[in-house]
Amino acid sequence: MGRLPEASAKAPAASRAAPAASAPPAQGLGMTSARLRERMVSRLMDNGVRDANVLAAMRRVARHDFVDEGLASRAYEDSALPIGFEQTISQPLVVGLMTQMLLDGGKPARVLEVGTGCGYQAAILACCCGEVFSVERIRALHERARQNLRPLRLANLRLVFGDGLAGIADSAPFDGMLIAAGAADLPQSLLDQLAIGGRAIAPLGAADRQSLCIIRRETAGSFRRTVHDAVRFVPLLPGVS
Ligand code: SAH
Repeated sequence: MGRLPEASAKAPAASRAAPAASAPPAQGLGMTSARLRERMVSRLMDNGVRDANVLAAMRRVARHDFVDEGLASRAYEDSALPIGFEQTISQPLVVGLMTQMLLDGGKPARVLEVGTGCGYQAAILACCCGEVFSVERIRALHERARQNLRPLRLANLRLVFGDGLAGIADSAPFDGMLIAAGAADLPQSLLDQLAIGGRAIAPLGAADRQSLCIIRRETAGSFRRTVHDAVRFVPLLPGVS
């Protein structure tokens, strides 16, 4: 697959802005958002997202409910958007491709997401996987994700505040991991929380040369990595804030 446009472009720090005067009223977008999502889903299909469960989830979850009202009119463009705290909601194509990679070979029963952000990717995972644990290191984003996700009543999704680099030892092993922030590599202690046969999908590499990677745990002691699309994500950082 060719080089993707910016996956999760580093956006400038964006505070929670008041709705811009030119933004459509939320109700107006609500009436057309199903149509806009359908168009987004057609574009995803054109760009390689074929998994029916992923497409159904992205048709169902209203991405505009995960961004500030002032950005809602842009929610169905294929771009990353700022969500505050120098973080971004990933581009829909990247969400689609990463989720599809995770689902390849069957529906994972237990999944760990590192980097909840606004909660959009977590919602898509919860629609497609058995049980989902999503960890966020910025408390304010963790709380915002909780608010954003409440109306969806996803009983199989747990949001956790903490450093996702530590994983969640008590809930391991995971059949799948989706790392929503970029790093040079992942700590072995995190990969050790994968089940045998489980796979981690992560943007890895130097900040300006990241690629989506699939790391599969083949046996207790061996992991195999394959390198896929070029992407760009905000950094995976240690600790909490
Ligand atoms: N999946 C998100 C994308 C968020 S951007 C969405 O759909 O909106 C990446 C997120 O990873 C940011 O919110 C950032 O704070 C978080 N992050 C970075 N390092 C982390 C870590 N070690 N543990 C948990 N979250 C982390």
